[in-house]
Amino acid sequence: MDGAALARRLTDSTAAAAADLHRRTGTAPCLATVLVGEDPASVTYVRMKRDRCEKTGIRSRHVQLPATTGTGQLVDTIAELSADPAVHGILLQHPAGPHVDERAAFEAIDPAKDVDGVTTHSFAAMGFGLPGFASCTPGGIMRLLDEYRVDLRGKRAVVVGRSAILGKPAGLLLLGRDATVTYCHSRTTDLPSVLREADVLVAAVGKPEFIRGEHIKPGAVVIDAGYNPGNTGDVHFESASERAGLITPVPGGVGPMTIAVLLAQTVEAATRQLAPA
Ligand code: NAP
Repeated sequence: MDGAALARRLTDSTAAAAADLHRRTGTAPCLATVLVGEDPASVTYVRMKRDRCEKTGIRSRHVQLPATTGTGQLVDTIAELSADPAVHGILLQHPAGPHVDERAAFEAIDPAKDVDGVTTHSFAAMGFGLPGFASCTPGGIMRLLDEYRVDLRGKRAVVVGRSAILGKPAGLLLLGRDATVTYCHSRTTDLPSVLREADVLVAAVGKPEFIRGEHIKPGAVVIDAGYNPGNTGDVHFESASERAGLITPVPGGVGPMTIAVLLAQTVEAATRQLAPA
């Protein structure tokens, strides 16, 4: 499953929507990025997201805060961005530091601007099937499944991983599409036998090549959301691709979709704020 190609197509249509909104309202969509400290990986991620914004006709406003920033100051900064009508989407780069109450900081994001889908409001809206912004990686996974016309109704979907930003929302979105969902995690017993039942398998573990060909039901759809050092996924691609019907590579699968969904949701948020239907 070619996530890079789908991400390019999604980004092209996002750029067209951004240009159209700019033309109609005289305002370009704007994403605010907030980074606490200078962790090299986070600096790279934020720079990548801002570069992609520029190329897509989305303005970006970067707020760089010192590593010593406390919860109160971070919450105040995000609350200001939430109240600023010139900002349409807000992204707080995770992690914000061990001394910061990250949940409190995320909750300061106005749900209307929560284009990264990190607030409890967005999570609850997803759970209830109400409008709101999904967490970007699970949102990207669903778009990939739709692109490849994977019929989810009644299918056994197994999600390995239950993090709040990835595994848990991915399972909820699959459930919302009538899959029968099983979550696996570090306490799951006899993981291999659960994996072998999966018609759709989502790997979100953070362990390189943890899932291998012998775990895959023949013909299954395998989504590898893992991204580990050395550009390695959570699935051993060579052995898994011999049994899978469809599989995402790493890199070039889920990864590019995450940023593409972030950009799409930023333009959608700006459209709702600037030119509500
Ligand atoms: P995380 O918060 O560390 O969660 C990992 C999950 O895997 C946890 O739920 C954990 O279970 C489970 N797990 C750990 N060891 C296991 C085992 N032996 N058997 C079964 N389950 C096990 O990680 P995350 O943030 O969700 O990220 C997961 C992966 O996705 C990482 O490689 C990350 O880099 C990648 N990722 C990619 C993107 C993208 O844009 N492509 C975005 C986000 C994350 P417990 O809950 O029991 O601890």
